[in-house]
Amino acid sequence: MPVVYGPVLSWRFGRSLGIDLIIGEKTCTFNCIYCQLGRTAQCVSGPEELKEYVRENEVEEELRKYIAEEGLNYIDVVTFSGTGEPTLNPKLGTIARKVKELVGDKPIVILTNSSLFYRRDVRKALLNFDIVVTKLDAGDEKAYRIINRPCRGKPSIKTIIESIAEFKSEYRGKLMVQSMFLHTNFGFTNCRGKHLAQLVEAIVKIDPDIVQVDTPYRPGGEKFVIPVSLKELREIGESLGKYFSKDRMWIFGIHDKRKLAASVRIGDYKERVSEIIKRRPCRLQDLADMLGVDIETVQKVVEELIGEGKACRIKAQSGETYYTVKT
Ligand code: SF4
Repeated sequence: MPVVYGPVLSWRFGRSLGIDLIIGEKTCTFNCIYCQLGRTAQCVSGPEELKEYVRENEVEEELRKYIAEEGLNYIDVVTFSGTGEPTLNPKLGTIARKVKELVGDKPIVILTNSSLFYRRDVRKALLNFDIVVTKLDAGDEKAYRIINRPCRGKPSIKTIIESIAEFKSEYRGKLMVQSMFLHTNFGFTNCRGKHLAQLVEAIVKIDPDIVQVDTPYRPGGEKFVIPVSLKELREIGESLGKYFSKDRMWIFGIHDKRKLAASVRIGDYKERVSEIIKRRPCRLQDLADMLGVDIETVQKVVEELIGEGKACRIKAQSGETYYTVKT
C-alpha cells in the first residue's frame, strides 16, 4: 500500500500531499466517535505495540518517485496523516527530517491526536515539523472519554493539555489546535455549557498560534454524531474571539484554502482516487477539485471502482459520498 498519497484538498492547507505512516488497518490510540475512518481496528497505547511500521526508505523511495514524475509546484504542504495516529511510528523524527530534505521550502505538517505528547521522544520527533496540528476536542475528562474514547493506558485529558502546553514552550514552528465541535442524538454536546467552557479554557491555556474550529462534516463516524451548523461554528468562533484575534482563528466554512489551490496534472486518476478515498470519504465535487478535472471524469473513475467492488457510495448529510470498500 503506498505511503505517499493525494494530493488531497484541505480546507485548512490547500493542496496537501499526504504521507501515511501506518501500515494496514486503522491503528490509533483513540477511537473517536466522529472518525471518518470508522472504528479503530487496532487500539494501541504506544509505538511499542505496533507489529510493523513504515520505514524511512519506503517514504524516501515513494516521495522521490512522486517528485520526479509530478514535481512539487502544485503542492501547498506535505501532511503526515492517514489511517491512524502518525506519532505511533517510532521513526517519526528521522522520516520527518528526510521528507523536509526532499521537499525543501514546502512546509511539512503533522495532524496528531496529542495523546503521546506526554512522551519526551514523541515531542522531540515533532520538533522537526514546520506545523504541528494537535487535536483537542475536550477540556474535561467526561467529554474526552465520550468523544475520543481513548485506548487502554492513555493519559488523562489533564495530562494531555499540560503536555501540549509543555511542547509549545520548546517548539519553534507553528502550533495549531484543531477542535471538533459536535452534537449527539443522546443529548451530549461540546458546543455549550461546561464542556464548551472547559474546552475554551484549555485552548486558552495552550495559547496556540492558530485555533481551528471544525465539525465532522464527513461521514464515517458513529450514526449518533451530529455535525454543528455553520452558524453555530461562527458563534463558537465569537466566544473564542475574546481570547484570539481573527487572524488566529480558522473557522470551517469561513477559512477555506481549497478554492485557492491551483490545478494539478494527474496521470493515473483511478489509483489516485482509490488512494484518496481510502483515507477520506469524498464527494464527486471534492475529488474533481482535488484532481483539477471535471466531475464527469471523476464520476467515470468512481463508477469503475464501484464496478470492481473497490468503492461504495453512501448518502451523507453533505451529499453522495464515496468510500473505499474494506477487504
Ligand atoms: S479521528 Fe484521528 S485520533 Fe480519532 S480515531 Fe480517527 S485517526 Fe484516531
